[in-house]
Amino acid sequence: MTAGDKGYDVIVIGGGTMGTAAAWELGKRGVRSLVLEQFNHIHPFGAHGGRTRVIRHAYAEGPEYVPLVQRADRLWLQLEEESGERILMRTGGLELAAPGFGHARSARASADRHGLPYEWLTPDEGRRRWPMVSIPDDWDVMFSPQAGYLYTDAALRTMAASARNRGVDIHEQEPVLGWESSDTGVAVTTTRGTYRADRLIITAGAWSSEVLADLGLPLHILRKSLWWFDVEDPALFAPDRFPVFVADSDIGEIYGFPIDDYPGLKVADHSGGDRTTPHSVERTVRVDEAANVASMVKRLFPTATDRIREQAVCLYTMTPDGDFIMDRHPTVPGVVFGAGFSGHGFKFTTAVGEHLVALALDPAHEPIPRLALNRFQPVARS
Ligand SMILES: Cc1cc2nc3c(=O)[nH]c(=O)nc-3n(C[C@H](O)[C@H](O)[C@H](O)COP(=O)(O)OP(=O)(O)OC[C@H]3O[C@@H](n4cnc5c(N)ncnc54)[C@H](O)[C@@H]3O)c2cc1C
Repeated sequence: MTAGDKGYDVIVIGGGTMGTAAAWELGKRGVRSLVLEQFNHIHPFGAHGGRTRVIRHAYAEGPEYVPLVQRADRLWLQLEEESGERILMRTGGLELAAPGFGHARSARASADRHGLPYEWLTPDEGRRRWPMVSIPDDWDVMFSPQAGYLYTDAALRTMAASARNRGVDIHEQEPVLGWESSDTGVAVTTTRGTYRADRLIITAGAWSSEVLADLGLPLHILRKSLWWFDVEDPALFAPDRFPVFVADSDIGEIYGFPIDDYPGLKVADHSGGDRTTPHSVERTVRVDEAANVASMVKRLFPTATDRIREQAVCLYTMTPDGDFIMDRHPTVPGVVFGAGFSGHGFKFTTAVGEHLVALALDPAHEPIPRLALNRFQPVARS
């Protein structure tokens, strides 16, 4: 591949979650690359704030995601080995579902399809195994030993460090104002200048509709809050005793984490959320907002209190069907994008970076059909 006249083969717009993973993959491939990030490399204004993210393999959202999370898991381990840092904490995962709610059963169907290990337990077995959880008698209970959580800051920091060590430039505090393509490649204009390259990868998170305005992507932004609750006996919720969990019921799709280095039981609701924009979002959590989540915490964890130690606001970029979009630009050659990670993308990050770079650099690499753009707007590919 020939470099552009500023010396880059690939430019990445958006150095957040997926852009950092693309940078790591570009570094491993030895591709001369530039990542442009409008804020500091790790920041609280997009989708990666809040310190931890659940990783689940028995994937209720669809068995098509299982190979992607399996690949991501292998790459997370590779990153741990390379960096010497703990990134993935494998606590196992508990799927709890009230009668008539399907998350646990869909997770089991995914596990069965892909031969993943799991245990389908009675509520009584669940209560004996995790005495800090008060599982109702008529709920589904599934345990997946491979599940756990990822440390977001360590994940992004180590991928970026590895990319930089391999020659990738990562510019922080440099917003991209626009990009255009021509026969000779792409030109990206920022607040500091114009850079040229042969290929462009766009991973702009909640700002994707602006950076890819020509595509009219069917995305909307949801404001999501998360909370850290005080518990009477934190030792009961330590990572070696308490798994990550999802509790699917009329209250919502509540999920949470063991108490790690942060003071409290971290819990949030995957369902719901107010529509917003990254420019107008209210970044402070309102006092009345915790009611739903607090009621589930009280129902499931008798020793948890309603005292909130910490809270945060984060952004989901949603597609209409909740599936990601990862594809080549339908009309502009050499441009690839990943967007609409719909509040469940982090676990896949390493595999997403690898996939986006392959879409950009390997002509034979195909989009994943379920995640391709043409499910929304069939376009003739050039
Ligand atoms: C509260 C919350 C909880 C979640 N929990 C989980 C979970 O448990 N498990 C899981 O798998 N996933 C989870 N997710 C989802 C996951 O975190 C996201 O899917 C993922 O972080 C999305 O990554 P991204 O790269 O699209 O966005 P981001 O990480 O926000 O990155 C986009 C980047 O692009 C930059 N950018 C945008 N426009 C420009 C521009 N013009 N110039 C320069 N830079 C630009 C932004 O500043 C930003 O850094 C959660 C998300 C939230 C918000």
